[in-house]
Amino acid sequence: MKSTLYWCSALALAATQLFSTAAYSSAIQQTKGTFEDKFRQLDEVLPTPNVYRSAAGEPGEQYWQQQANYSIKVRLDEEKRRIDAAETITYFNNSPYTLKYIWIQLDQNIFKNDSMAELTATFNSKPDPSLGGVDRPARISLNQLRRQQFMTDNELGFAINKVADGRGKALDFVVVGTNMRIDLPQPLKAGDKTSLAIDFGFNIIDSDTVGGRSGYEHFPDDAREGGNDIFLLAQWYPRVAAFTDYEAWTNKEFLGRGEFTQEFGDFEVTIDVPADHIVSATGVLKNDREVLTKTQRERLEQSRKAKRPVFVVTPEEALENEKEGTDKRKVWRFEAENVRDFAWASSRKFIWDAKGYQQGGNVQPEVMAMSFYPKEGGELWEKYSTESVIHTMEVYSRFSFDYPYPTAQSVNGPVGGMEYPMITFNGPRTILQDDGSRTYSLSEKRFLIGVVIHEIGHIYFPMIVNSDERQWTWMDEGLNSFLDGVAGREWDPTIPWGVEPRSIVDYMKSTNQVPIMTQSDSVLNLGPNAYTKPAAALNILREVILGRELFDFAFKEYAQRWAFKRPTPADFFRTMEEASGVDLDWFWRGWFYSTDHVDIALDRVYKLRLDTQDPDIDWERRRQEETDKPTSLFVQRNQAEGRKTWVELNPDVRDFHDENDRFTVTNKQRNAYQSFLEKLEPWERKTFDRAIAEDKNYYVLDFNNLGGLVMPILLQWTYTDGSQDSMYIPAEIWRRNAKSVSKLIVTDKEVLEFAVDPNWETADVDIENNYYPRKIIPSRIEAFKATRGQDHISRDIMQDAKTKLKTKEANEEEQD
Ligand SMILES: [Zn+2]
Repeated sequence: MKSTLYWCSALALAATQLFSTAAYSSAIQQTKGTFEDKFRQLDEVLPTPNVYRSAAGEPGEQYWQQQANYSIKVRLDEEKRRIDAAETITYFNNSPYTLKYIWIQLDQNIFKNDSMAELTATFNSKPDPSLGGVDRPARISLNQLRRQQFMTDNELGFAINKVADGRGKALDFVVVGTNMRIDLPQPLKAGDKTSLAIDFGFNIIDSDTVGGRSGYEHFPDDAREGGNDIFLLAQWYPRVAAFTDYEAWTNKEFLGRGEFTQEFGDFEVTIDVPADHIVSATGVLKNDREVLTKTQRERLEQSRKAKRPVFVVTPEEALENEKEGTDKRKVWRFEAENVRDFAWASSRKFIWDAKGYQQGGNVQPEVMAMSFYPKEGGELWEKYSTESVIHTMEVYSRFSFDYPYPTAQSVNGPVGGMEYPMITFNGPRTILQDDGSRTYSLSEKRFLIGVVIHEIGHIYFPMIVNSDERQWTWMDEGLNSFLDGVAGREWDPTIPWGVEPRSIVDYMKSTNQVPIMTQSDSVLNLGPNAYTKPAAALNILREVILGRELFDFAFKEYAQRWAFKRPTPADFFRTMEEASGVDLDWFWRGWFYSTDHVDIALDRVYKLRLDTQDPDIDWERRRQEETDKPTSLFVQRNQAEGRKTWVELNPDVRDFHDENDRFTVTNKQRNAYQSFLEKLEPWERKTFDRAIAEDKNYYVLDFNNLGGLVMPILLQWTYTDGSQDSMYIPAEIWRRNAKSVSKLIVTDKEVLEFAVDPNWETADVDIENNYYPRKIIPSRIEAFKATRGQDHISRDIMQDAKTKLKTKEANEEEQD
């Protein structure tokens, strides 16, 4: 019902009012009022395109980046848990600038007691002042105490023993926290190269105690006297800081979270370890004849074409290995080309399996997928680690480029999950049972498959697509979480991968948020902010907004443009728009630059019926509408009481108005109708007659954008006969009013219910207001019995005082 006249005038107005002054002035008024342009051009915010980075989001025609090659000799002292090493860096200045100094990253310095990271670590478990600090004391965990003790007992951070030029001449250097500036005796001109020689060493941290991306893990229960260790070495050598066209030296202090961005280069690394150790490292082993047995080399060869991973070191051999130690040493020699970092792992505990991934193509037809893990990894690792490595490459390459390196490795150790070129550290383990068997839970299985896919995925982003992790966590974690969600759901969609739109809803509506475009160390809630939200956003961009064809083309274009180069956020945003041909400024603004959330409410639906203008039809309809209105309770009750009205009691007194109501049609109106029809132009008459004949259902839907984030409206409706229809309304519907819009839907059949985003594809945080009419929300309720908490006043001390003191034996019995 409602506003039948409104309809007519709307039809009449549409033809004439396109350029009316009223519409024009209201648009101006909006910009003066509360209007917010959610579609404002993002170019105002992005850096100006230049010869290094084009407006298309591509490397510009004068794009450059530096190169740093490393030659490193390192020795692991297992007893002291220390490495000592000497490196030579060959640095190529490909920039157009002259450099007077070179900045080096000394990440191990984060563990020094006076590092910025240690000094600014905050305490988060204060006593509650509202309880007078009595009932809720401050809390410190045994883990925190153990860490504090370790940091006090051990001298940590880099010892820099020598810094010299290529001829051995000592160079001046200044250590600034986790960075070191080396002053060059002669400025390094554009196009020139220089050599730096650095001798260094450090005590390795106990990873379980200190936490971090590398370190050792001790296994005291191994058969060997004193136990064994697994050593994971990363951020272990002084690394040249990146020098870029967009930030010059990236020498922002390392605070632990904002990770790294390095220069690409070639590595030659010799690793001197106890002879019974197995070493996994970035790159390819070059002296396998010296460090592997003939049997091991044969197994490796056999693994290349194997259907399932082949043991190079079997579980039995590893178990035998970990029973004893040796004084002998072996030197493993690795080479890696065009990598931005180098990490390695070493232990006598390692089981080693391998399987060749026959990728095909010209880039790297065969990749050796390999896993290294102790017996604690067990069957879980044996079954799934190397297979997960291969699955990752299969999926990621489809979205980006062929995996370009000869190896891809997964190593088990104390680090939950961390990535480096060709090597990843992954944490899941099995549990030893009393009967000596090992089992693992479903969640540990999911953890293993998920973390291996995620970390191997990082070899693509950011190890190859070299985004700046120190500044933008989302550029690697967000893109990688999006793709690990693709790979993960192609492995097993019943595992929750956390990239579906509904995964991010609770975070999106929470308070205390920063935009995705926030520097890594300042991000609140890193997981949802830098992983889940951008991943869910890209998932929505792919499945809802662009569709797979456009998204996949643009995303692949981005990956290929920036493989082995340095993209910035602007390059990603620009490439996705330029290659898809879809303006996404509103999307980046909403999802990446704001803390808005999605909450589109369908608050009102009007059903309209076109007036025929024929008074004999229209006025009869209006009479019917009047009759359909509910009778007042007063009148109903009077009737129920049998109370007659004066009019009813006096039927002999009647006049004209008793016979004709206010809807009675007169000839005056009939004449007006005829003259209305005569004045219509032929096309107007044709249109009007057809509309009257069809008598369609006109629905006007009022949408309110409560979350602020503009999004497409995914509208679905159900007819009274049970059939359904849907409409995709692009986000641009909000361009002139981002808060509320109305939409006309015309249908043949009568509609029973309208729904917005019924399949939860847009991360709409409030589903309830998506339905018209509203729906009853199914939920659960449990009856519970209240229990009273015990404190030091309410405990029954009279009764408790009778308790006997338990003996040590009784205690142990109880624990079994
Ligand atoms: Zn990650």
